[in-house]
Amino acid sequence: MGSVASGSRAMKTATQPKPDFAVIGGGLCGRLVAWRLAGAGHRVALYERGDAAGTQAAAWVAAAMLAPLAEAASAELLITQLGAASLDAWPRLLAELPEPVFFQRNGSLIVWHHADRTEASLFERRVRANAPAEWLDSGFVALSGAQIGAAEPALTGRFTKGWLLPREGQLDNRQVLAALAAGLAARGVELHWNTHIDDRAMPDAHVTIDCRGLGAKPVLPTLRGIRGEVARVHAPGIDLTRPVRLLHPRYPLYIAPKQDDCYVIGATEVEGEDMSPVSVRSALELLSAAFSVHPGFGEARILELNAHCRPTMPDHRPALVWNGAQTLRVNGLYRHGYMIAPEVADEAVRFAAALLERRVADVDAFATWRRDARWSELFHLDSLNQPDPAREPA
Ligand SMILES: Cc1cc2nc3c(=O)[nH]c(=O)nc-3n(C[C@H](O)[C@H](O)[C@H](O)COP(=O)(O)OP(=O)(O)OC[C@H]3O[C@@H](n4cnc5c(N)ncnc54)[C@H](O)[C@@H]3O)c2cc1C
Repeated sequence: MGSVASGSRAMKTATQPKPDFAVIGGGLCGRLVAWRLAGAGHRVALYERGDAAGTQAAAWVAAAMLAPLAEAASAELLITQLGAASLDAWPRLLAELPEPVFFQRNGSLIVWHHADRTEASLFERRVRANAPAEWLDSGFVALSGAQIGAAEPALTGRFTKGWLLPREGQLDNRQVLAALAAGLAARGVELHWNTHIDDRAMPDAHVTIDCRGLGAKPVLPTLRGIRGEVARVHAPGIDLTRPVRLLHPRYPLYIAPKQDDCYVIGATEVEGEDMSPVSVRSALELLSAAFSVHPGFGEARILELNAHCRPTMPDHRPALVWNGAQTLRVNGLYRHGYMIAPEVADEAVRFAAALLERRVADVDAFATWRRDARWSELFHLDSLNQPDPAREPA
């Protein structure tokens, strides 16, 4: 195999026949794709530079809100449609995993302080422009102050207006990563944790699926990172039952409740691939904004302050990039990884199976595949690796 920079299990498997699929990167996408492929009976090897818990992944830091309507304030229709379809898919997917995962579809609450009320009309206009129409009908409910208190007693008397987005959901990101790791082992996937893969020495397989997130930057030069910082706090007694988003011109914020009185408070959005620890400024902004939503957060205990970078393509869309041979890259999930991963992974798995069976082997077949695909906008040909007609001899 020779391609594996580290990892003892990799050495042990050097004499095994080459797998159908090598999945590089075992964050959210890689685990999901590998698990789906193994479930379809394929022989799969997964290579992850970090541990089985997933601590090296953006997926480890994420709040894992599944919020196609709230995200419509900054995302286009394609993303919110992917999110709506994926939200329906998550419960089926989680039911197949060997470990329980906290998942709920109890909606999101949007609130704002009176002084920031102009943010509310802007938010509503953007959501109505970018959300799937069928979601707007019953999924965007204006609340009075009293109704906010009825929906979320912890916020009684704190806000005069808000919106309930009752169809939205959330899950526990770290439980998903753990359950997928267990599911991969149960499905016989060859697992290479703590194994960094170098581009010059990729593992041998019939088809390679590159799910390295920002780690794929050397081969996807337009990929960039957008830094996000979050706080994890323990705040017994507040008892928020659903993610709460605070609209604010400078410090928009969400508070996503997890089990056992834990909350993820996030997130900053800063251009750049700075993986250094959370700045004092960001910590102050996040925690102050949370305190302004509920003063009980003043007594919360800070469990973690985390930063990671969201892998982002120039158009902020996810991308399935075929290299013209036997490699597919799945990337660009940006700030919507959990929200859209089931649909993106399924699309990737269908295409990867077509590569394995040589149903797609040239540019014409790819064009036909893309035309007929459910999410055709996701597919791209890696032009860097294609013959440039201008350079071909006449
Ligand atoms: C602060 C923050 C908050 C977020 N909140 C949400 C949210 O509420 N809802 C939502 O839907 N999304 C959210 N996201 C986005 C989500 O986390 C990402 O979209 C998602 O994790 C992308 O998945 P991925 O598998 O492509 O990348 P990752 O999860 O980053 O996984 C990539 C994996 O590849 C591995 N890797 C990289 N290079 C190599 C190499 N050379 N060899 C081997 N392995 C390698 C990495 O270790 C990593 O495990 C958030 C992200 C951040 C940072």
